[in-house]
Amino acid sequence: MNRVYNFSAGPSMLPLSVLEKAASELVCYGDSGMSVMEMSHRSPDYEAIISDAQSLLRKLMNIPDNYKVLFLQGGASTQFAAVPLNLMVTGKADYVVSGQFSKKAYKEAQKYGDARLVASSEDRNNTYIPTLTKEDFRPDADYVHICFNNTIYGTKWNYIPDTGDIPLVADMSSCILSEPVDVTKFGLIYAGAQKNVAPAGLTIVIVREDLLGHSRPETPTMLDYKTMADNDSMYNTPPCYPIYIAKLVFEWLLETGGLEERAKINARKAAYLYDYLDSTDYYKAPAEKEARSMMNVTFVTGVEELDKKFAKEAGAAGFKNIKGHRSVGGMRASIYNAMPEEGVVKLVEFMKQFAADNPKA
Ligand SMILES: *Cc1c(COP(=O)(O)O)cnc(C)c1O
Repeated sequence: MNRVYNFSAGPSMLPLSVLEKAASELVCYGDSGMSVMEMSHRSPDYEAIISDAQSLLRKLMNIPDNYKVLFLQGGASTQFAAVPLNLMVTGKADYVVSGQFSKKAYKEAQKYGDARLVASSEDRNNTYIPTLTKEDFRPDADYVHICFNNTIYGTKWNYIPDTGDIPLVADMSSCILSEPVDVTKFGLIYAGAQKNVAPAGLTIVIVREDLLGHSRPETPTMLDYKTMADNDSMYNTPPCYPIYIAKLVFEWLLETGGLEERAKINARKAAYLYDYLDSTDYYKAPAEKEARSMMNVTFVTGVEELDKKFAKEAGAAGFKNIKGHRSVGGMRASIYNAMPEEGVVKLVEFMKQFAADNPKA
């Protein structure tokens, strides 16, 4: 059985070498005589895995000492509630809506207090990112929430908004580890692992220490960042296996040049696809140029039947899961870290052939 090019938005491809390493250790990890899946999370072997995972991530992202790294469960969606529960101290927060996930986060926050919509790109089907300055935010807001890369629409913030002293909270589920990011510009970063890090089941939270310990009294113990920080993410059983795979992915990233090098590769992959999209009239990329995502590339033929045919024939040719989200239509090629450059080159070849074989009326 050959491996395919899997363009899924998530869960998505993992590096082949990571899967092979995991396979080689699947039944027996080191000299433990058991699988990581069967291990006590309190065993010395597992303690080493989780603490290595944390220090490798700190090194990769250059995370300062005054930030905690938490390995949690519940997906990024649980953070839509955890963020207001922990950070809405005075009851006010500002939200920017640039896609479906940021909208869900905004709606969830309304349950807990005065969540204000600062700006939205819904007026043009989330094809752009609002331009914002410090004056757009309430000076007394507890935090500002953004989604840094919009997985469904294929847009990304090409700047970090200046929020002054207000902590900036970012959902980075679909762009974490795709390029270097200045962690000090954020109060909190969160990401579900299943896009660019590990299998589903793990959520990473990177939070500045001074933001801990102010949660609302009704905050469930499990959702209180302080509980998890005080217990090194082991208040209860953590998602042991996804953390182990994340550790292998962090090692792979460091071995292949870290995030500086990764950003170059990702930029090359995205440019290869966008350059072709810009060179042809056959396909269109709905996202505005200045807001293009390096991870999720959306495109349409403009003819619904052709889009359907494309997704079907691409799938048969080994380019899997390329059908776009229903709210954009067309196609979406998610080209996370683990998608080899060759996958993008071959996809463009396929796109050219498809355009030649299926002229528009
Ligand atoms: C996938 C995704 C989510 C939802 O993640 P879950 O882990 O399924 O809850 C949230 N935000 C962004 C940006 C995503 O890409």
